[in-house]
Amino acid sequence: MAASTKFSLAPLPYDMKALAPHISEETLLYHHDKHTAAYVAKLNELIAGTPYEEMSLEDIIRKADGPLFNNAAQAWNHDFYFAALSPAPQQMPSGTLLEAVNAAFGDTDTLRQKMTQAAVGLFGSGWVWLAADANGTLSIVSKPNAGNPLTDGLHPLLAIDVWEHAYYIDYRNVRADGVKALWQVIDWRVIESRYATIGTK
Ligand code: MN
Repeated sequence: MAASTKFSLAPLPYDMKALAPHISEETLLYHHDKHTAAYVAKLNELIAGTPYEEMSLEDIIRKADGPLFNNAAQAWNHDFYFAALSPAPQQMPSGTLLEAVNAAFGDTDTLRQKMTQAAVGLFGSGWVWLAADANGTLSIVSKPNAGNPLTDGLHPLLAIDVWEHAYYIDYRNVRADGVKALWQVIDWRVIESRYATIGTK
């Protein structure tokens, strides 16, 4: 069975060099063009000739398990992760998202500290998420491997990739430094636009 062509690798919305020195060109080249491309290729291979070929990526994530879940979620997670980064980021949340951050965590610095602690503390590979429930209330969700809060009925807003491939070229074994650098390029404008869609779809 030939692989499906349903899903494709979204191009990065910035140049490979644009996030340096926080995230190097070499890291982005491997992370996007090698690791993420491989998840998308495997996803297309696994859905070929199955009912999953007719489903949205989100529905595959909600319904599949095993290798199909892993590759579908990794394809989704990485697109979501890369899309939140910018060489000219809005450094802080504002508006209704800022109100929700303050209600849940006290202030934005405390949110950053708590997500960083969760990222450094997650054993092995995985993702740390900022997510919202249907009422817009925020929480931090740690997931091993390809885990995504969509499977808990939550709305993902922001993802920290703690797989070694996300930071090892630039920061070697020091995950905390990789996370610290990531905060420098997270564009809160994107997180706000995601938050604004809750309740509208
Ligand atoms: Mn990754």
